[in-house]
Amino acid sequence: MDKVCAVFGGSRGIGRAVAQLMAQKGYRLAIVARNLEVAKAAAGDLGGGHLAFSCDVAKEHDVKHTFEEMEKNLGPVNFLVNAAGINRDSLLVRTKTEDMISQLHTNLLGSMLTCKAAMKTMIQQQRGSIVNIGSIIGLKGNAGQSVYSATKGGLVGFSRALAKEVARKKIRVNVVAPGFVHTDMTKALNEEHLKKNIPLGRFGEPIDVAHAVVFLLESPYITGHVLVVDGGLQLTM
Ligand code: NDP
Repeated sequence: MDKVCAVFGGSRGIGRAVAQLMAQKGYRLAIVARNLEVAKAAAGDLGGGHLAFSCDVAKEHDVKHTFEEMEKNLGPVNFLVNAAGINRDSLLVRTKTEDMISQLHTNLLGSMLTCKAAMKTMIQQQRGSIVNIGSIIGLKGNAGQSVYSATKGGLVGFSRALAKEVARKKIRVNVVAPGFVHTDMTKALNEEHLKKNIPLGRFGEPIDVAHAVVFLLESPYITGHVLVVDGGLQLTM
């Protein structure tokens, strides 16, 4: 049976590295993001047989339609990675409500919607593995990131509860919680200052996280787990 994996947020950063690693391992990939051109370029770089889809994870209709299209064109989706995410960092008193909502909708509601849409096929097939990308900030908190922390903390609760709900159907749900990783999301950060607190002395690369994601996707006896990939940052927080 084909191994088909949908990577939401697979066009850039961590999701893209996950897709690249999975393509090397023989999976067929659905690269999903809002910007179709960027997603197509990322899918094209993987070689033949992989497809790109445009979808806003915060929109239920988009997510449902994307699953229909993925399954029509690639077959049953048995692997799901939720790497679509945004941040709007600011102190709570300065955070606009619309920025709270966009982070909640993309980072938390989005993963709920994709997991729900994936369930039908996974339950039918009694086979499925999901990895949601959380954050060390969701476990430890960080000043200036209260809303983002809430979305990522919420994702842990959601994933652990869902893991209990669907374990009997042979579906596993895990979380990878990265520290600082070199992607578009962290471009504006003061790396020299921040890396002083990282025991391994550097930001992570997307591939560092991708190895952990693929490990959990493929580990048949691990579910409801949160795997921190942060160069030891949590030891200092
Ligand atoms: P990037 O900004 O590099 O990539 C984000 C990806 O998500 C892009 O593919 C983007 O494509 C997609 N995306 C964003 N919003 C939506 C949406 N509404 N619907 C569909 N796709 C969307 O981010 P990273 O790779 O850095 O982050 C990946 C995940 O890892 C995120 O959840 C992030 O919170 C988390 N994380 C990142 C860390 C870091 O240091 N980089 C640390 C800890 C966690 P498009 O814009 O075209 O939609």
